[in-house]
Amino acid sequence: MRIGAIEAGGTKFVCGIGDERGTIADSISFPTESPETMLGKAIAYFKDKRVEAIGIGAFGPIDLHPESPTFGFVTTTPKSGWRGFDFLGALRSEFPVPFGWDTDVNAAALGEATWGTAKGLNSCLYYTVGTGVGVGVYLEGRLVHGLVHPEGGHVPTRRHPDDDFAGLCPYHADCLEGMASGPAIEARWKAKGQALPSDHPAWEIEAYYLAQAIAGAVLLMSPEKVVLGGGVMQQSRLFPLIRAEVRRNLNGYVVANEILERMDEYIVPPGLGQRAGLCGALALGLAALQGTLRST
Ligand code: ADP
Ligand code: ZN
Repeated sequence: MRIGAIEAGGTKFVCGIGDERGTIADSISFPTESPETMLGKAIAYFKDKRVEAIGIGAFGPIDLHPESPTFGFVTTTPKSGWRGFDFLGALRSEFPVPFGWDTDVNAAALGEATWGTAKGLNSCLYYTVGTGVGVGVYLEGRLVHGLVHPEGGHVPTRRHPDDDFAGLCPYHADCLEGMASGPAIEARWKAKGQALPSDHPAWEIEAYYLAQAIAGAVLLMSPEKVVLGGGVMQQSRLFPLIRAEVRRNLNGYVVANEILERMDEYIVPPGLGQRAGLCGALALGLAALQGTLRST
């Protein structure tokens, strides 16, 4: 099978082709510019590739409801030029194949459930911690859309006692994204995360916010695995800090071996590594082709 995949991020835009085993045969990455520019690049890339389906994992907010007049549009993003852009429609008119369309993080969750660290499970959450914070939700074998789609990066936070940073989110100031995204780390400490030493207090504070949100999500959705990706999570020192802090938050209340004894297999990096986003889009394309794309 030849399946097309588009990982449309706020910073980079990746097109690729792959197969039903999750193997990417070819890919190309561009910096994200105007929708017209990116559309041109995607069309040029897929033109001669003879793909049987295309999956798109897009930064949001996006419209996922097939009955909506703006289905397939990027909706309220502040990103210049993208607001109100009919992303799916523009590609559909060029390529008469089945399309999978979802948020970048829902796509990544599906990719992990199909080929990655959550393979064989009925549920997982996928957090990306990068320029923003996003959460993909896969529950009972379906991607969750609900009213719009989950926006778990914007949950409110309880402040760390030593942190007086105001928060960066233009909507909520000190929501999870406002406190824990890569730009929030940079604004708080006046240095990018990449440049902070391993014993810097930034990491404990970062883990405090992420763990708080993850503990809340575990209580609410009871996922079988929590996958943490994105640039900031390249700091592998965060994983033990987050696991300990989630355990402290839950305080023995959720009685499951995964949490009480096997936390290092419960809160994990993406099994698909740096390819999680593109493989996620591939998984959407494959599911669209096979007619197994299910959402709630
Ligand atoms: P995007 O979210 O734009 O798709 P990334 O996931 O790479 O891209 O996130 C970029 C953010 O992650 C930046 O704020 C950057 O400072 C931060 N970041 C990238 N690599 C690292 C790293 N190794 N350690 C800490 N922070 C990082
Ligand atoms: Zn917010």
